[in-house]
Amino acid sequence: MRALAVHPDVLVVVSRVWQTTAALVRAPAATGDAGADPAAALAGATAAPREAFLVDSPVYPDELELTAQVADQAGFAVAGLLATHGDWDHLLGRLAFPKAALGVAETTAARLTGRSGDAVRELRAFDAEHYVAREGALGLGELQSLPVPGKVELGAAGPGQRHELELHPAAGHTADGMAIWVPWARVLICGDYLSPVEIPTWTAADGSRSAYRATLEGLKPLVEQADWVIPGHGGPIDAQRALAIWREDVAYVEDWKLPLARSDRRQKQLHEGNRAAG
Ligand SMILES: [Zn+2]
Repeated sequence: MRALAVHPDVLVVVSRVWQTTAALVRAPAATGDAGADPAAALAGATAAPREAFLVDSPVYPDELELTAQVADQAGFAVAGLLATHGDWDHLLGRLAFPKAALGVAETTAARLTGRSGDAVRELRAFDAEHYVAREGALGLGELQSLPVPGKVELGAAGPGQRHELELHPAAGHTADGMAIWVPWARVLICGDYLSPVEIPTWTAADGSRSAYRATLEGLKPLVEQADWVIPGHGGPIDAQRALAIWREDVAYVEDWKLPLARSDRRQKQLHEGNRAAG
């Protein structure tokens, strides 16, 4: 697993499998906090941990454990979990933070309600295929259903201050999902879009090519404002690279043009799946 900071309040972990990417997002330091005052920090004052969310999840047990350790050491007090969409490999946060509630878009809550066993089964099948030993079973708990578009508050801000993550609709890869904008860090966490390692994918049963195209259009103004984009697979990319991938993804979704850097055997298989879905 790779772990890196793209901002003092945004840490990114990248799984060894599928480069599945998760982000720890923390409320910004209030003015006067040791964390916000360089002089206090130099004098050795350590800031108190601040409330944080884990968005999506890494996959392997050691990676989940390490994510909890990294959060703890870096002063990210994880109080909640968010998932960009309902695919099982993004839903494992409770294995690292068993007491935290999982917040998802209303569309994802609708998809998972009564079918959360699917994610558990798919995780079990993955573990069996790859001989992964895992303690404890995945329980998604009671889902927090979030209206999208909408906002979700993070941390107890001072008087007149609100720290809110913006939730933007992101259907297409699947029929559910959301992208998350972190205003104070200028970071976009977009789920399974704009990946440097995977072409756009959808299935006939679940996502759709036209919805994928529409989501790319909706993401564009956010990408243009971003310092960093964190896709669901492939680790963080800067805005310039994200815009280049955005153009490639539009060309793929509109005209089936496979991007050169994502045209290996596996990507061609995914491409055939997309063609079959139409
Ligand atoms: Zn995914």
